Amino acid sequence: MTKMVKTRFAPSPTGMLHIGGARTALFNYLFAKANGGEYLLRIEDTDQERSTEENKEIIREGLDWLGLGPTDGKWVLQTDSLERHKQAVQKLLDEGKAYECFTSKEELEAMREAQKEKGETIRYDGRHRNLTEEQKQAFRDEGRVAVIRLKVEEEGTTSWDDAVQGTIKVPNYTLDDFIIMRADGYPTYNFVVALDDHDMGITHVIRGDDHINNTPKQMFVYQAMGYELPIFAHVPMIHGKNGKMSKRDGATNVLEYKEAGFLPEALNNYLMRLGWSLGDEEVISMERATEHFDINNVNKSASVFDQVKLEWFNAQYIRELNAEQLLTHLEYFFTKEGLTLNDTIRGYLLNGGINAVKNKAKKLPDLVKALEFFFKAPPFNFEEKEVSILETDGYKNNLQLFVNKAQNIEGTVNHDTVSEIVSELCEETGLKFKDFGMPLRVALTGTTQAPGVGDIVEIFGKDESIKRIQSAL
Ligand code: GLU
Repeated sequence: MTKMVKTRFAPSPTGMLHIGGARTALFNYLFAKANGGEYLLRIEDTDQERSTEENKEIIREGLDWLGLGPTDGKWVLQTDSLERHKQAVQKLLDEGKAYECFTSKEELEAMREAQKEKGETIRYDGRHRNLTEEQKQAFRDEGRVAVIRLKVEEEGTTSWDDAVQGTIKVPNYTLDDFIIMRADGYPTYNFVVALDDHDMGITHVIRGDDHINNTPKQMFVYQAMGYELPIFAHVPMIHGKNGKMSKRDGATNVLEYKEAGFLPEALNNYLMRLGWSLGDEEVISMERATEHFDINNVNKSASVFDQVKLEWFNAQYIRELNAEQLLTHLEYFFTKEGLTLNDTIRGYLLNGGINAVKNKAKKLPDLVKALEFFFKAPPFNFEEKEVSILETDGYKNNLQLFVNKAQNIEGTVNHDTVSEIVSELCEETGLKFKDFGMPLRVALTGTTQAPGVGDIVEIFGKDESIKRIQSAL
């Protein structure tokens, strides 16, 4: 029987959720979903000094926003397993697979200096591997406190078939008996990652290629503990246009993209395309991606983050989503701008308002700006520009002519009836469309920046439209 696929995202709350982290989470999520598996979350908070509650919250908010929370809903903290980690250290000590090392800082320093002089690889030389009980006691009597080191095979090579990078081989002499528990009694990073991944039943470790150097160490932990190895997949970094990702490239916090008005759907689509492709498709829904994603098809070379491309995706998704979906994202921005929704306005937005403006928008604030007039009711505080339109010779009369005709229409007035009315009026008066359109737009919305008059009248309906025009008159 094959094991159920389990992946995990393991962010450290020493920083926020950045673009690279979000893509790692996304790949783990997609791979698990594509294989009918689970995608778990582990907050790696063992660096207590640099981990903050605020970062944890930002990571959670960022993942929630992207829809990349764990499939089992559990937010596991690595520090919750401290006792289990300590017991594992003890087990390895008892089995002689790990040992106490009392080498002092100064002695380590001298050892490294000597290695450097001889042109040797800098590594712990295993000098305390086989201390007798008497020797250990003597060190303790000196007041030394031991760290615990894992015995690492010196001969041969360690290798694994990386699902992204292919076979990676590391000569064991470049590794050494690394520390698995510090003198303060806390187990170290590479040790606990391996334990936790095993305990959580992780079958595929998908992470950034900055962790390649950690993998051989973690493999030695698996081996010492007698655990089966997972499959490792190291995904190449995302670079900025000028090399490293900079703050401007969203290197620090994905929530900045939320604030800037990007849709999570667009960011996910853009991120999945950084390293993965599905034929020549660009717009790929999460649903479609979860059917087809394969970590084995992820590119080996680094990708470059391109803000312009991301904006293109965002504009695509603004067109793609329906009014109701867009409204759920827009509510946050309306609140931010102090615009309060009520049932009437909600009705305007859902029954044509959003659709009338969405094709021109790149980001959500563009939509907010274009929809703002729906939140205002007459009497309007007209600005100079609008006043001058309403005061244009004959324009008030044109509005009155429009009202007269609209009032005579039986039933509802829609886009087409508005066109018909204005065409008739143009014919009768010899005036142009804009001589009716401009004052109508101002009278109906209080602004000149609004969609076509036909759309507006259709959204407001006949009675409200007439009421608004009369108010302006
Ligand atoms: N906590 C590590 C990081 O934030 C990830 C560890 C892992 O994925 O194995 O870079």
